[in-house]
Amino acid sequence: MAKKRILSGNRPTGKLHWGNYFGALKQWVELQDSYECFFFIADWHALTTDYDHPEKIKPSVMEVLKDWMAVGIDPKKSVLFLQSWVKEHAELHLLLSMMTPLGWLERVPSFKDMQQELRDRDLNMYGFLGYPLLQSADIILYQADSVPVGEDQVAHIELTREIVRRFHHITKTEKVFVEPKPLLTKTPRIPGTDGRKMSKSFGNAIYIADDDATVRQKMMATITDPARKRREDPGNPDVCNIFSYHKLTSPKKDVDMVDRECRRAGIGCVECKKLCIENALQFWQPLRERRETWDGKEQELLGMMREGSVKAQTVAAKTMERVREVMGLNYGTAR
Ligand code: SF4
Repeated sequence: MAKKRILSGNRPTGKLHWGNYFGALKQWVELQDSYECFFFIADWHALTTDYDHPEKIKPSVMEVLKDWMAVGIDPKKSVLFLQSWVKEHAELHLLLSMMTPLGWLERVPSFKDMQQELRDRDLNMYGFLGYPLLQSADIILYQADSVPVGEDQVAHIELTREIVRRFHHITKTEKVFVEPKPLLTKTPRIPGTDGRKMSKSFGNAIYIADDDATVRQKMMATITDPARKRREDPGNPDVCNIFSYHKLTSPKKDVDMVDRECRRAGIGCVECKKLCIENALQFWQPLRERRETWDGKEQELLGMMREGSVKAQTVAAKTMERVREVMGLNYGTAR
């Protein structure tokens, strides 16, 4: 039986962090064996928030690619491509924009959340409002059956499904696009070093590429249970960011021990952090070493993306042929 197809991507706005890994990349690596996976670097999406810093895009594409290689995203198993190399994304976005009500975009919950998170930037832009529509175009262009998402992204998939239904209704067609389903991934909430959601824009992220010294320094500065003032006070691991990190990369015996001992002041926060750091370093070291093997291999990485983009474009072109036909644009091409 043919494998079902999934699609997902990363915006190249810098290196990827632990939140990106445990929230998405880890699942992608696992999904590669059971699905036909299309993973893309969403460089046009990066411009929706970083339009005034285009110089960051290319270096960020390289960083994301190295992160992908580090964690085990495999170009032999999955189609890896660059969004802007498949122009059909822009064409489909434009055509869908003709029939997408503004209110649908304005009510996407993450629209307001992101505006809040990136308060320092002027996001009162047409492209930013339209980014969920571009996202919908990204998905349906490949007839993806599912999109791996966390709870907070389900509304985007629902919007995509509505857009597909509306397209079919208006053009009096069916099956031009597949209605994608959310593939809910179990994503623990990954706090940053200050307890807010781990995010590049909050400056609280620990990156996959961070070296030992940086990881140590960031983890030593991480906020623990704020109510635990002295060593002899019992703590509450359930509200502690370090405990969240233990659960990500420490062996079960250490997690159980910390869970027990913290509550009866049997372990101090410094000792607990040191244990957490050693376990984290052990987990990330092989990934980081794999990442370093790609340093200076920009052309090789781009070559890999080129191959993937050609494969992706073949699928996208087939979809667009049908879309042009039903939208009355089927009079061939200039050449
Ligand atoms: S002992 Fe560990 S889990 Fe408990 S508050 Fe301190 S750092 Fe957090």
